[in-house]
Amino acid sequence: MQIYVFSRRKLLIRFLLLIITVGFLGMTQRSLTTPSLVRTPGTYYLANTKEKVVALTFDDGPDPIDTPAVLDILKAKNARATFFVLGKAAQANPFLLKRLINEGHEIGNHSFNHDYQQRKLVAELSQTDKIIFEATGTHTYFYRPPGGFVSKTQLETVKKNGHMVVLWSVDSKDWRNPGVKPIVDNVLRDVFPGAIILMHDGGYQRSQTVKALGSIIDNLQAQGYRLATLSELRTLDSEMK
Ligand SMILES: [Zn+2]
Repeated sequence: MQIYVFSRRKLLIRFLLLIITVGFLGMTQRSLTTPSLVRTPGTYYLANTKEKVVALTFDDGPDPIDTPAVLDILKAKNARATFFVLGKAAQANPFLLKRLINEGHEIGNHSFNHDYQQRKLVAELSQTDKIIFEATGTHTYFYRPPGGFVSKTQLETVKKNGHMVVLWSVDSKDWRNPGVKPIVDNVLRDVFPGAIILMHDGGYQRSQTVKALGSIIDNLQAQGYRLATLSELRTLDSEMK
């Protein structure tokens, strides 16, 4: 009887240890998948909503090969997205900016040169906005800093210049070119209602992103998610009302 009680207690302790370990791993996992960017106050990286709506965002384009491929997939699957374009790429491909707008997508500002330090922040912001306005007749409101790096001072400068800094809450990690399946898995594992998802349609050869995109959208839609632009997502944000 004594032994029985002892082993039960031992089992109980083991069970409790397991619960603590699982809980701890869960927390670690969460802190790993929730980027440090989330800790940058004053930036926008998710919408507070229970509705199953997410915003796909594509950085570093437009690219003459990969952007049309991305647009074809979005069109076929009736999905909307936001493209954070680079001024220098936009200048070279103004017809793609027009196509983006005509097909119901939104354009954000991703600087002109992709200078991580943003030494000419204001100049690049307005130069890129001007190129987009000339091609489409629309101004940019959302700004995504290169690499997602933004200091408090830069954040204030962006605000003063009439833009909002947008980061992300789900990273597809397509910038690492890890293969098609990991890109799909990264998104589907971390997605939640109101998420802003980071992907790329330029800056480098993005065939993995293009191959992953159809599967990502199919899976999200099968789970009941709708894919919206950032502006649409914000209208559903309870903290914005
Ligand atoms: Zn970028």
